[in-house]
Amino acid sequence: MDIEGKVVETVEEYDLMVKKDKVVVALSGGKDSTSVLYILKKLGYDVHGLMIDLYLGEWSEIHKKNMTRFCEELDVPLTVVDLKKEIGQGICFVKAVLAKKKGLTGCTVCGIIKRWVLNKWARKLGADVIVTGHNLDDEAQNVLMNYLKGNVSLGAGLAPMTGGSQLKIVGGSSSESSGGSELEILGGSASLGACVAKNQEPRTKNQLNFVQRVKPLFFVPESEVRKFAEDMKFDILYDRCPCAFGTYRVDTRGWMVENMKDEDKLKVVEGFMESVGGMKKDDREVRSCEVCGEVSRGKVCKFCEIVQCV
Ligand code: SF4
Ligand SMILES: [Zn+2]
Repeated sequence: MDIEGKVVETVEEYDLMVKKDKVVVALSGGKDSTSVLYILKKLGYDVHGLMIDLYLGEWSEIHKKNMTRFCEELDVPLTVVDLKKEIGQGICFVKAVLAKKKGLTGCTVCGIIKRWVLNKWARKLGADVIVTGHNLDDEAQNVLMNYLKGNVSLGAGLAPMTGGSQLKIVGGSSSESSGGSELEILGGSASLGACVAKNQEPRTKNQLNFVQRVKPLFFVPESEVRKFAEDMKFDILYDRCPCAFGTYRVDTRGWMVENMKDEDKLKVVEGFMESVGGMKKDDREVRSCEVCGEVSRGKVCKFCEIVQCV
C-alpha cells in the first residue's frame, strides 16, 4: 500500500478527522509535516498550516521561506508564530538557560514549548484537530526509549490519536462527555467532542482548552515518507535540526537505523499497542494550569515552569 493509502486507512480506522473538521497541520518544514499537509489537502480536508519560528538561525529562515512558498502553491493558509513575541526569547536562549539552571538538555524544553504554542494557536485558529508529522520510526523510538529508561508505562495510550480521548480531568467546569470516549471526569463534567467515535458529529474543543492531536503517518516508515517527498520533488531541507545532537533520541535513532528493518519497527509499535499501549489507558489526571489556563498535569504546567526560569 502506498503512503496515501496508509494515511486514508489510519484516518478512517482511528477516526482521526472528518471532512467538516478544521485541520491544523503543525509544520516544521521537514519532509514529514510537508508530506502530510500535501496528502491531506489532496484528500480534500480543510487544512491550515501552523509553524513556529523558533529562531534557529538560517535553518529556521530557510524552513519559513520554503513553507510560505509551499502553502501558497497549494492554496493553504499558513500562520507563522514568532516565538520571541510569544515568550520573549528564541529557543536557543531558552534551552541554554534551562540547561544551566535545571540541567534540562536535548529536546525536552523545545518539545514542551512547541506543544504549548501549537495548542494555543491551533485553538485560536478554531482547529478541531492538530496534525503532527510523527512517523513509524518516531513511534518505535518512543517505545524503545521508554523501555531503555525503564519506564514502559510512559507509552500508555500509544496510538495515532493521543491525549484527549483518555484524559482524566480534575476540577473545572463543563457540560457533557462524548460517546465512545474513555474520558473519566473528576469534580465536574466536561465537553470532549474531540473524542467522538466514527460517524458522530465533528469534534469540538473541550473545556480544558485541549485540541486533539493526531498522527496520520503513524504507520508509515520514515524511509517511505522520504521517498514520497523526494519523488514529489518538494523543495525542502532534509537536514536535521542543528540543536538535535547528543540526545537519547538521536542515539536511539542511530541504533535503529543500523539494526532494524521497517517491518521490525512496525512489529515493535503494533506489539506494544496490543500489550501495554493500546490496553492501558493514560489515567494521569489533567487540569487547567493556574497560571496560563492551558491543560496541565500539575497545578502549574511545564511551560509556565520553564518560562518562569528564563
Ligand atoms: S529537534 Fe530541534 S526543533 Fe525539534 S524538538 Fe529538538 S531542538 Fe526542538
Ligand atoms: Zn501554564
